[in-house]
Amino acid sequence: MDEGAPGGLESVRTLLNTWRIPNDTRRPTDDLPALLADPSAWERMIPGIRHPHDEAGRQEVERLRGDLRVALTDGTDHLNELLADQRWHLAIDGANADEPVRWTAEPASITGDGLAIVTTSLTAGTWSRLRACPDCQWVFYDTSRNNQRTWCAMTAADGGRGCGSIAKTRAYRQRRQRRPEQLAPG
Ligand SMILES: [Zn+2]
Repeated sequence: MDEGAPGGLESVRTLLNTWRIPNDTRRPTDDLPALLADPSAWERMIPGIRHPHDEAGRQEVERLRGDLRVALTDGTDHLNELLADQRWHLAIDGANADEPVRWTAEPASITGDGLAIVTTSLTAGTWSRLRACPDCQWVFYDTSRNNQRTWCAMTAADGGRGCGSIAKTRAYRQRRQRRPEQLAPG
């Protein structure tokens, strides 16, 4: 149901998903404090971004998560502002067919680690497949052929109502009002 993103992008996806609005409770939850307090869990789940050692670093992680959420939903303007604050080094990795161009921010930093994953993923063409579900805010990687998935794969069977179900019902009703004779209930 939730396949994960390729390469380093999965570290960014995992970081973004520490904040979400689960369907069963509909209340925003934040797993970041717990994850920050457990360095070995952090390194297992978010290997692409260095673990912060102090309070300033923890605040930087939280800011990075917010910035990347905005970048994911608001397009390139916010992203360009973030990228402009870094000095970039790029290297070609001939052995890595999926991510042939590797970007690194200098000097190394938590923010630089996160943004380097984004630029590497932009170059590889995978960033545009990372998307936040409009209902539960879960960030998923769209593996569909036409890259047009809007909602996460959360269904009613997972607890609560399924994502997109309100919008889908509304769209169905509107279609039925327009053409009542042509649509069977589904
Ligand atoms: Zn969802």
